[in-house]
Amino acid sequence: MAEGVGTGVGLVRHGRLLGHALASSMDEHARYGGVVPEIAARAHVHAVRPVIQRALDKAGLRLTDVGAVAVTTGPGLSGALQVGLAAAKGLAYALGVPLHGVHHLAGHVAADTLEHGPLPDPCMVLIVSGGHTSLLLVRDLARDPVLHLIDTLDDAAGECFDKVARVFGLPCPGGPAIDRTAREGDPHAVPFPRPLPGSYDFSFSGLKTAAARWAEGHAGRELPVADGAASLQEAVADVLTRKAVDACRKHRVGTLVVVGGVAANSRVRSLAEERCRAAGIHLRVPPMKLCTDNGAMIANVGDLLVRAGAEPAPLDVSIDPSAPLEYATLHPRVAAG
Ligand code: ATP
Ligand code: FE
Repeated sequence: MAEGVGTGVGLVRHGRLLGHALASSMDEHARYGGVVPEIAARAHVHAVRPVIQRALDKAGLRLTDVGAVAVTTGPGLSGALQVGLAAAKGLAYALGVPLHGVHHLAGHVAADTLEHGPLPDPCMVLIVSGGHTSLLLVRDLARDPVLHLIDTLDDAAGECFDKVARVFGLPCPGGPAIDRTAREGDPHAVPFPRPLPGSYDFSFSGLKTAAARWAEGHAGRELPVADGAASLQEAVADVLTRKAVDACRKHRVGTLVVVGGVAANSRVRSLAEERCRAAGIHLRVPPMKLCTDNGAMIANVGDLLVRAGAEPAPLDVSIDPSAPLEYATLHPRVAAG
């Protein structure tokens, strides 16, 4: 199960996705111009049972076929996480099966293995989502610590897309709207900055400000939104893919995996492909529907943990809304040996 703006449920057996379902409360948030945590939590209460049933129906399974339950414990919105955890605890207890707490970002990383199989050791992972923009050096996702290499110093790339979309008058969620609008625009029309070119850190708040200033500069005139969107998207894709490929070269890693909501962006995907091919790096990106939050990716980590012999969570396990992106939380208790 995954919790955020969407209530997602997936069923995974031995690394294979059997069925998944997703309900989104995004339309309910749109008129407020952003996500309202209380609305997200209430939407989960209504969605959780029907979404579980839809996922089971798609997989052709019954509740009693479920052998373990995995649920996001963090990071995320606390109300939404609480609803998911309460539902998962009830389910695990009633079925008499183990419960596993999953780090949301481990879910994003594992989303790729549903399509492309186990991750090679080592691989470089670019997590690029609404709340994170980080580079990780990953070995065995279910056992070993990950090496956390780079972070954003301020906004995440998805946040930058969402905030600039609002300034451009585009609908929510902003990332997909920028992607769609950019198709009609010239990516070289506006010379937006490429933040921190020589550094290994990411930064997107300056880019966001530059886009807002560019929009303000058109006061009283029609804003060429498509050119702005295409140029912003080009700047974000350029910075992300350049730094990710540089990190692969520096650490002599032959595979780059790009995950998270922004991995659904068409230009991020095409530029990553272009640059990885030129650098002789193997690129893996999950299918678009598994890039943004979903239950399949959380179920997949649960399946990985079960197969790695992980110790289940106690029934009094609690949420951790600000769970840091560090190896200890990306790898919940795994039995020794
Ligand atoms: P996190 O995973 O960091 O906790 P989150 O779960 O809110 O954050 P995701 O669901 O992984 O984020 O991704 C949502 C983000 O991805 C949003 O910022 C959204 O605008 C962005 N996004 C989704 N599709 C696209 C796209 N096609 N182009 C650009 N951005 C996109
Ligand atoms: Fe996410």
